[in-house]
Parts: sequence; structure tokens; C-alpha cells
Amino acid sequence: MPASTGSDYISRIDRLQTNVWIDGTPITGKISEHAAFKGIMKSQAALYDLQHQPEVREKMLYRSPTTGQWVGMSFLQPKTKEDLTKRRLMIQEWARLNNGMMGRSPDYMNTVITALASSVDWLKGKASCFPENVLAFYEYVRENDLSMTHTFIDPQVNRKAFYFEESEEPIAAKVMAKNENGILIKGARLLATQGGITDEIVVISSGGVHVEANGFAFAIPSNCEGLRFVCRESFVGGDSAFNYPLSSRYEEMDTIVVFDNVWVPWERVFYCDNMAVANSFMRTSAYLPFTLHQVVSRQIVKTEFILGVVQSIIDTIQIGEYQHVQEKATEVIVVLETMKALVLKAESEAQLDEAGFMRPDQTTLQIASNVYPRIYPRFAEIIQQLGASGLMSIPTEKAFQSTIRKDLDQYLQAASKNAEERVKLFRLAWDLTMSAFGTRETLYERFFFGDPVKLASQLYHEYEKEAFVKRVEKLM
Ligand SMILES: Cc1cc2nc3c(=O)[nH]c(=O)nc-3n(C[C@H](O)[C@H](O)[C@H](O)COP(=O)(O)OP(=O)(O)OC[C@H]3O[C@@H](n4cnc5c(N)ncnc54)[C@H](O)[C@@H]3O)c2cc1C
Repeated sequence: MPASTGSDYISRIDRLQTNVWIDGTPITGKISEHAAFKGIMKSQAALYDLQHQPEVREKMLYRSPTTGQWVGMSFLQPKTKEDLTKRRLMIQEWARLNNGMMGRSPDYMNTVITALASSVDWLKGKASCFPENVLAFYEYVRENDLSMTHTFIDPQVNRKAFYFEESEEPIAAKVMAKNENGILIKGARLLATQGGITDEIVVISSGGVHVEANGFAFAIPSNCEGLRFVCRESFVGGDSAFNYPLSSRYEEMDTIVVFDNVWVPWERVFYCDNMAVANSFMRTSAYLPFTLHQVVSRQIVKTEFILGVVQSIIDTIQIGEYQHVQEKATEVIVVLETMKALVLKAESEAQLDEAGFMRPDQTTLQIASNVYPRIYPRFAEIIQQLGASGLMSIPTEKAFQSTIRKDLDQYLQAASKNAEERVKLFRLAWDLTMSAFGTRETLYERFFFGDPVKLASQLYHEYEKEAFVKRVEKLM
């Protein structure tokens, strides 16, 4: 089956009838019509539709190596530097459709699975590892253009070093039993963004495993028996794109994933019962370089959008003559150009790995992933500093349709915009940085690729520093 359209995606997810709970109630009926999900599912559908538009189709799709069908470019296993460029252009074309607000647009997980499939040689011959299942799953999702969510971490019960769970009933999901058909999983995992609105869920222990039963990787359909997605409250403010320009379209939802005795068939198990593999596969595989390349490419588009919002505020209330304002906008420009330079450097310094796939330079991408979680909260701060009371002078769409409009037109006009245009802009800035959706965005970018403290520590340990120490010794 060739690449999905938006309606393929929506009808597939509606048919699944996945067990999704929100506000203490299970969702019944079509999830694509539920207030918490209709906006994001429409935005996701728009991505799938875009890939079929004649003017961008060759950028978004490529011919499947096995069937010759058109499949999503984010599944392309890069073998050359040109392939990396193709992947980036596709990722950014999709990201521009939502200005980088959808962190888990399908290309994210497509890239994760492509990375794992490109590294299966490493699993070959290792105990309880099934590289053939990783490859089969990769081909299945690629050929059917299926959407995926993922969960990589255990519940936040006790983060002490060397904590061992002693509860009789499992809290962190673990393997409870095995038979000739598969493995039985019970317990919970965090935090599946877009949980419940994807075809499949990928569950991986990404390191820090102390107990064999907690170390595994597998993928199952979202509607598996015993699987539940428990949502936080929805941050969709309402349907109006005037009032909630971002949350009405891009609220991805985050879910706790409960495995209530879920049987995972062997053909869907990537590995289990092998702590060494559970603690090292993600680190040694192409996961980091491939996925960070996707993440940074999207973050560039998001930063362009943030700069657009910052400059629009500056122009609207004419504050561009002040040097501190110029300096704040320049902070965003510097990050934007730094991220663009880093992604290009990572591509130009890419190297073929042992399996023959082109890995963008991992260290360069790790630098970017250390910069962005720290700088993103500063973007929110800059928008608040520049927007000031404008961020609270934001009457709703209904107010503009009421008899009070005369007042609004008179008192909310701005130097370069009428009142309605000005309020639209400031509502956007508020939704980007201050609404429940906006503050979640800040938390998201802080923790998008894991704990920034651990990301820094990893870079510290892996970065080659010896040559510089030798230079100091030489001088002394
Ligand atoms: C909006 C959002 C969406 C997300 N979406 C997904 C998703 O789709 N899929 C998914 O798998 N995950 C997702 N996550 C989870 C994300 O990967 C984690 O938040 C991140 O890895 C940090 O883990 P944690 O939240 O458990 O923090 P914790 O590990 O509990 O950390 C809490 C605090 O303790 C400190 N700490 C804990 N352990 C250590 C240590 N060993 N050394 C030093 N300091 C430590 C941390 O630095 C931090 O300050 C999402 C998170 C957010 C906020």
C-alpha cells in the first residue's frame, strides 16, 4: 500500500477503537471527533495529505526498495550525504505546515524505526535478540505508512541511583511470563505523546535497566487487548483558531501507558532477557544520529516561527529602536543560525557506519541537543518581556463580535495593526508561551530528547578532550 493520505490515517485510527481514557472516562465513538483530539488529528492528516501534492511529492516520498511503491521519505535509510539532505528537506517541509509545533509528527518515529532497522546487524547472534523482527516491523510500517507513538521510560516513582522496585504488583512495566506465543507484560510506562491516536506503539528500554524483566523492546498495535492510554487533561482551549491558534490545532496529548497483562507475540519482540543489550543498543545504534538529525531539523523551523512572532510583536508596537529589544531578537537569530550551521556540519561530517548507512556526525547533533533545551525557555521569556501587558490584553473572538467592539477597535489598536489583528497576534504569542499548551511546549522542549543533565553528561564523557590536555601539558 502506498503512502497514506489524511483520510486513510483518520479512518484507520477511528477503526482501532483504542482504549483511551480522559478525565476518568473511556473514549467511545470516533476519536477523531473528540474535542481533545480532533484538532491534532486534522493537523496530522494534513501532513499525510501534503505528501501527495504533485509539487512536493518527490521531496516527501521515494520508491520502496522492495515494492516500488511510493513510501515516506522519513523511512529512507541514508547511504549518502545527499540522502541526509533529502531527509532534512522532507522533515522541514512537514514541519513548516505546523511551524515545528508537532514534536511527534510521524517523521519522528519513522526515523527512530529506520535507525533501529539500520542497526540490526549489532543484534545478530546475541541472546534473546530478534533482528529479523525489527526489520520486518520497519518494512511493515514503511509499506503501510503507519503512525507510531513510543514510550521509553519507567514511571517516576523513585529516581534514586540503583533503586530496585519492591512492590508486589509491578509498577514499571515488566515481563511477567513467557510461552511459545510471546511475552506477557504488566505495569506502566511513560509518557506516550500522541498515545491513542497512532496505529502502533513502540516500547523500548533505553538504558538504566537494573533488572532483566524490565529490559525489552517491542512494538504492538495501539488497540491490543489489555493496553490502556490514560490521558492528562486536554490543553485544547476550544475550537476557535482566533482564541487558541495553537492548542486548537497542535495539542498532541501525553499519556500514561498501562499494560494490563498484554501479550506481545514473539514476532513483535525486538529483544528481551538481555540486560547488556537493553542498556546499550540505543546508544550504539543509529538511533542518536538519525533521530537527532530529525529533531534538530524540526527545531530550526520552530525557531524561525519564534523569530517571526518576536519580530511581529516588535513591529506591531514599534519597539525596534531600543537596543535591548534588538538584543533579544538577536538572541533568537543567533540560536537559529547556530542550529542551521550545526545540522549542516553534522551532514557534511557524516560517515558511513559498519552497516553501510550514512550517520550524520553524532557529536555535532549532541551539541545542538544540549543547546536547545536550555535556550527554549529563554524564547518564552523574551516573548513575555517584549509582549508585556499586550499578552493580557487579549479579548476573545466573541468580544469582537459583541457591541463592545467599538471600545476594542479604539483602545486595542496598535501602531501598525488594527485591534483585531493585534489581538490575534498577541493571542498567538500567549498560546505559544503562557497558556497550558504554551507552558507544556516549554517543558516539552526542555525534556524532548531526555533529561538535559544526562545529555550533558553523555556528551562530556564521549567528547574527545585528551588532545587539548596534552597541549596544556606541552606548554607547561
Ligand atoms: C511534554 C513531554 C512529552 C514527552 N513525550 C514522551 C514520549 O512521547 N515518549 C517517551 O518515551 N517519553 C516522553 N517524555 C518523557 C521524557 O523523555 C522524560 O521527561 C525525560 O527523559 C526525563 O525523564 P523524567 O521525566 O522521568 O525525569 P526524571 O528522571 O524523573 O528527573 C527528574 C529530575 O531529577 C533529576 N534526575 C533524575 N535522575 C537523575 C540522575 N540519574 N542523575 C542526575 N539527575 C537526575 C533530573 O535531572 C530532573 O531534574 C515526555 C516528557 C514531556 C515533559
